Amino acid sequence: MSALTTKSLPALLTAGLLVWLSAVESKAQGDGPDAEPLIIAQDHAWPPFAFTDSDGEPQGLLIDLWHELAAELGRPVEFQLVDWPDSIELVRSGSADLHGGLIASPERRRFLDFSEPMINLSTFLFVRSGAGILSLEDLRGQDIGVVAGSYELEYLRQERPLLSYRQYANNDILIRAAVSGTVDAFVADYPVAMYLLDQHAAPSDFHPLLLLYSHPLRAGVTADNAALLQSVNDALSELDPEVLRRITQRWMRSERQEVTPQWFYPLLIASLLALVLLYVLMLRGRSRRLRLEVETRTRELATSESLFRALADNSSAGIFMIRGEQFEIVNPAMSTITGYPREELLQMSFPRLIHPADRSMVRRRARMRQSGESVPHDYDFRFITREGDTRWIRLSVDAIPVEGELVSVGTCIDITEHKDAKRDLEAEGRFSRLVADTSAHFANASQSNIDARIDRMLHTFGQNLGADRAYLFRYSEDGQFLRNTHEWCAPGVASAMDSLQNLATSDIAWLDAKQRQMLQEQRPLIINDTRALPAEAATERDFLENDGVRALLLIPVQSSSAFSGFFGFDSLHPRTWPEQQAQQLMVVAHLLAEAMGAIAAEAFLTRESLTDPLTGLYNRRYLDLQLNHWMKNPAGQSRLSLAMIDIDRFKPFNDTHGHQAGDELLQQLGRLMQTACREQDVVIRFGGEEFILLLRDTPLTDAGRAISRLLDRIRQTDFRVQGQTHRISVSCGLASTDELAASDKAPEHLIGMADQRLYGAKRRGRDCLVDSTPEPSL
Ligand code: GH3
Ligand code: MG
Ligand code: MG
Repeated sequence: MSALTTKSLPALLTAGLLVWLSAVESKAQGDGPDAEPLIIAQDHAWPPFAFTDSDGEPQGLLIDLWHELAAELGRPVEFQLVDWPDSIELVRSGSADLHGGLIASPERRRFLDFSEPMINLSTFLFVRSGAGILSLEDLRGQDIGVVAGSYELEYLRQERPLLSYRQYANNDILIRAAVSGTVDAFVADYPVAMYLLDQHAAPSDFHPLLLLYSHPLRAGVTADNAALLQSVNDALSELDPEVLRRITQRWMRSERQEVTPQWFYPLLIASLLALVLLYVLMLRGRSRRLRLEVETRTRELATSESLFRALADNSSAGIFMIRGEQFEIVNPAMSTITGYPREELLQMSFPRLIHPADRSMVRRRARMRQSGESVPHDYDFRFITREGDTRWIRLSVDAIPVEGELVSVGTCIDITEHKDAKRDLEAEGRFSRLVADTSAHFANASQSNIDARIDRMLHTFGQNLGADRAYLFRYSEDGQFLRNTHEWCAPGVASAMDSLQNLATSDIAWLDAKQRQMLQEQRPLIINDTRALPAEAATERDFLENDGVRALLLIPVQSSSAFSGFFGFDSLHPRTWPEQQAQQLMVVAHLLAEAMGAIAAEAFLTRESLTDPLTGLYNRRYLDLQLNHWMKNPAGQSRLSLAMIDIDRFKPFNDTHGHQAGDELLQQLGRLMQTACREQDVVIRFGGEEFILLLRDTPLTDAGRAISRLLDRIRQTDFRVQGQTHRISVSCGLASTDELAASDKAPEHLIGMADQRLYGAKRRGRDCLVDSTPEPSL
């Protein structure tokens, strides 16, 4: 025990007096038979239970108690106060009769027997105030001070094996170590710790954190001393409870001055202080926990704020808050999207950014949202950037209450490219449909409508592509020339077709070669700017620019033999042709080529079916078609004359010279008639050795003259057949549509009339023309 302060001198004197009194008392009790003193071992630094005072005298609650019990036992007592572990050892070794007060534990029960409870003892974990130790967990990795050989140690090792401990010889040394800072926590009996902390002038350095246990103190005797234990238990049961209360009061909470030990008031104050402190610490602990929680929350907030900030700063989406119509918060992406620096945006009203055409829609939505109506969160509209560009944006916005006012918070992303892509896709879709439609038109085109369909195709695609001119060129059969056969011009663009009727391919050798190469590769030839043409295309460039052409797109068209050429589009300005669409036009080219091929084949077949294989002249089927066509055409009605011609006595010719010779004669006569008549006239082999001549736009009299000339020519012609010369004659019946009644203009009537007149000619003796129906002979 350290030296006492002068302040505690009166208490010391009182204590000294009490010691003396008790000594006198015990001496008085010890009178009588000379009994052996009972040697009691106890700690010498365990106030207020047992300790050696400054005079070296044993003091404490247990000391007083044993003096009382000694009276009951009828034996004097002697104390051996030593370090705690030694106090047990004294009993174990037999140097002391009993231990003056300790807690029974399994470990101790191995060599000690224990009396009935004497007084209760509570043991706490004490921790340094302000060290932030809030639970046992916080003590992980730290040493906890504890008295060696103590029950506390035994208990802790059992119950808290994971904590580490530092052992001290007794409580005084333990508390000194704690006060000096060696350990931040220790385990001690509550009154002991409070007493010693006060002794070392550090009453508030430590506070109890955790009640470890509350156990009774019992006397301990060696197992071979059952009789002593029995007498101690008897003495305990005999002990006047009032005496025990008095002793306890004296050492623990007595207010009686005369029995107050000199350390009592400091202890009391310390205890009260400790309680207050405990409360304060509890509050502090709580406020500390609150503070920690606030700190954690703040940290979390800060973290989430910085996370949000990082997100907002790095987001490619524009993030904003608008109060009224004014921007209050904008992230960097808003500047990227709008082109306005942050500071400018913050000065701006939101509607100023919006394209005028979209402004009222956005405002209406905003008003509805502000008034709590449900409107879609997302919508698309246009921004006008600082540079004046129009950008499509998608806005997601919500109204949230901030400081009692609804503000709009949202994000916007630039979807211009997306929109463009969509538009392109739609345009491509439209274009694809056009391609499909046009292809269908070509698939069932015929000779009679192919030109119209080509014109329509040029118009459709010329317009769709925004071209200035669209055209179809056809190679001549020998590939030497190009001819512009169809053309479409945008409004206000001059036609170039007339000047492009006989374009020598040798004059545009580069373009011609290129176009043929494209044909082979089945690709369109795309020229976005004629100025960018290579040097070897200088002629073409000049030639094109002469017509004002600055860009062109050529689609090669090739059907096996019927057609070779290309269709294409001119632009009077440099431009980028859409490659996707250009490639799609190859489909059109392909179908156009097929149509051309089919029409050519059809024309060929038609010719076959309408001509006579022997003479190459048109046949009777053709005659029917022509007659029908012409006679239905009012313009030609009055002007058509028909001559039916029959070789005179052809049968004998055949019979004399053979059928083969007859055929040859038929062929030669056919050729003669064809060369003899005019371009607009048509020679037809009507059948056998009969021919018909159709004389268009020719009245009967003119026709009569022409036929008479023909008959002369036939009559005078030497036909060379199989090495022999032959002369023949023909007879002819001539009729004209003029002669037909208006109600009776059927082709068969015309033919019938001519046939009748032919018959008349034969009857007249042949080799003559009859152009009016003879009166029937009576
Ligand atoms: P007419 O002066 O009265 O017309 O006497 P014709 O012998 O010419 O008349 P007819 O009608 O009796 O005979 C027609 C002959 O024409 C019969 C046939 O031998 C011949 N003929 C008809 N078609 C052909 C043909 O394609 N080739 C040849 N070689 N002869 C034909
Ligand atoms: Mg005949
Ligand atoms: Mg004949």
